[in-house]
Amino acid sequence: MTSTTALELITVTKAYGETIAVDAIDLKVNANSYTCILGPSGCGKSSTLRMIAGHERVTFGDIILNGKNITDLAPAKRGTAMMFQNYALFPHLSVSENVAFSLKMKGAAKPERTAKAREMLDLVHMEDYAERLPSQLSGGQQQRIALARALITNPSVLLLDEPLSALDPFLRIRMRSELKRFQRDLGIPFIHVTHSQDEAMALADVIVVMNEARVEQAGTPRDVFNHPQTEFVARFMGGHNILAQPDGPIALRSDKIAVAVDAPEGKPAISATITDIEYLGTTFSLALQSENDGKISATLPDAAFLEKPLEIGQAVFLTWEADQAHRLSH
Ligand code: ADP
Repeated sequence: MTSTTALELITVTKAYGETIAVDAIDLKVNANSYTCILGPSGCGKSSTLRMIAGHERVTFGDIILNGKNITDLAPAKRGTAMMFQNYALFPHLSVSENVAFSLKMKGAAKPERTAKAREMLDLVHMEDYAERLPSQLSGGQQQRIALARALITNPSVLLLDEPLSALDPFLRIRMRSELKRFQRDLGIPFIHVTHSQDEAMALADVIVVMNEARVEQAGTPRDVFNHPQTEFVARFMGGHNILAQPDGPIALRSDKIAVAVDAPEGKPAISATITDIEYLGTTFSLALQSENDGKISATLPDAAFLEKPLEIGQAVFLTWEADQAHRLSH
């Protein structure tokens, strides 16, 4: 993967009347990378994507694609392509005609359209389905057609708006790996909007976590999960406890907490009571209640637990290595 910047957003802002949907975000997307924009509903993900695609006007700021300012260009002139949540296939057109639709709009002759559509269908392994109607395809197949249709314009970047949300859980996981493979094969950046942490963790080279119209943190999945910088990111990515410490809040992964029966010396510790114990196969999950920090969860390896059985209602001390805690900026 190269680290050349393909797409850059500079203080990009979107206001719908009084509502600031995207608030001065800066973002660099590397060439040949898979970026997921992740955040809860209403945080501004789709507005950001739609501004990149040109389906929404930018209120303030600039969008640069491969060195060219595309902020005010028409969607078809930008070198971007978008794949939508519901695939938006035309029900009365064949698969081949759906894929070639944008070439028809550009006035390309039929032989050229058919040949190019065939090439795209090969790419997504749907060459045998060219004459079918969308209604004769499964959800996963419709998705591949939507992908072929987006790619026929030879885009410099592919934008995907919740592309897996219409699929059942089994297919979603399968299509997830296909999307990643397509991105690698094509070598162009994919920018994929999702509200699913799992999806972003599985797919992305870079996760951009958004909250309330701003970027909270951008980094590799490992970085964002293991080193959350803000309380929002720690809570949203899951698996962390937020603990109030004298010099500010920290995030501590539930599997980095040790449970001691006696007060430990020389380590940070808080006292808590066990409220629930669940066996999860290779680990035990403990729910705890502390006076200062409320609910806390700890995950203990099977062996550690069996050595020293614990009970619901028992008072314990929670300890951790200082270098495992991450200070939160807010
Ligand atoms: P997300 O994709 O993260 O769910 P959106 O970008 O769709 O978020 O929306 C961000 C905010 O902008 C929300 O408060 C939403 O209600 C508002 N919004 C989105 N589209 C419009 C619109 N066309 N007109 C007015 N407000 C909008």
